[in-house]
Amino acid sequence: TASPNAPFYQSYDLAADLYHHILVNTKAGQPALKYLEQRGMTRELIDQFKLGFAPSSDDHGILAQFLTEKQVDYQVVRQSGLLTTDHDGHFHDRFVDRVMYPIKNANGQIIAFSGRLLAAKGNDQAPKYLNSPETPIFNKRLTLFNFDEAKRAVRQEGHLILMEGFMDVISAYGAGVKSGIASMGTSFTEEQIQAIQRISNELVVCYDGDDAGQNAIMRALQLLTDQAPTLKLKVVQMPSGLDPDEFVQQRGPEKFQQYLANAEETPTAFRLQYLRRGLNLANQNELLSYLDTAIRVVAQVEQPVAQNLYLKQLADEFNLDQATLAAQLSQVEQQAQ
Ligand code: ATP
Ligand code: MN
Ligand code: MN
Ligand code: MN
Repeated sequence: TASPNAPFYQSYDLAADLYHHILVNTKAGQPALKYLEQRGMTRELIDQFKLGFAPSSDDHGILAQFLTEKQVDYQVVRQSGLLTTDHDGHFHDRFVDRVMYPIKNANGQIIAFSGRLLAAKGNDQAPKYLNSPETPIFNKRLTLFNFDEAKRAVRQEGHLILMEGFMDVISAYGAGVKSGIASMGTSFTEEQIQAIQRISNELVVCYDGDDAGQNAIMRALQLLTDQAPTLKLKVVQMPSGLDPDEFVQQRGPEKFQQYLANAEETPTAFRLQYLRRGLNLANQNELLSYLDTAIRVVAQVEQPVAQNLYLKQLADEFNLDQATLAAQLSQVEQQAQ
């Protein structure tokens, strides 16, 4: 309790309780509650993740008023990131008219929020998700959504599952998959990888089933192989056009669990498939250039048996002699030394 950060944690707790109360018990929260229900959020999930609503106000805002009533220290309020300061030096609520997602640290303490607009408003002046700024208790680069719960789930599920968004993690949780985590909207970082490695030796990358998601998988795999060479990696590609949240809502929990179990592939299999997107492999030049790239990818695989497997698949698929592919692989490996 002597920690200088204690008042910050207390302020975030107060704010989360207030936003949650507004969502579930007040008229101001009704549109947001309806929105969440339409997205398939049960009352159980809303409580579990302490989702909330930050209403608009004619005044300086409901949280600004609340923190004043609770006599939270001025410097704490100023540095908390919960409020913003206007040109007159008045505090205003940072989050207005947004569904609130509390973000916790590894110990389960609330340290930040992300607030989502109920609906994207015409031209996107306002971002869909607005995050708390960095504060004495919130370091974005270290933080992973649902990390505290996922830590417990690792023992049962045997891995962590990296997803893109809050709703993906929450819907997966509702579907019984509790090991989901999400990086904080920004890119995936070294610090997050270190946190992951401390609690699991296996990570499943499960991003959105769109081009942005596929590109992000490639970037994440690169960073992960560089930063955590001993971490066991798997990739699950969502069906085209779906993110994990949409998958759960459209196809249900059982199908989601089955899909996770059955659709996983190795990082190399993912890369080989990614690198051929948009190529016309009936064209010999494109085919040769793809095979050259593919062999370079296979050259990065450690286990000879796995290398052999990928070569066999390439040989079968393009009706080539596997020994010739193996010869080219040796050439590439020798050049690399
Ligand atoms: P939803 O289902 O609520 O629309 P999503 O998670 O599917 O959200 P995506 O567009 O797939 O949203 O983005 C993935 C993640 O990236 C979000 O969960 C959020 O963390 C982050 N993000 C998206 N848009 C923004 C934004 N404008 N500002 C900050 N972070 C954002
Ligand atoms: Mn996306
Ligand atoms: Mn989504
Ligand atoms: Mn998404």
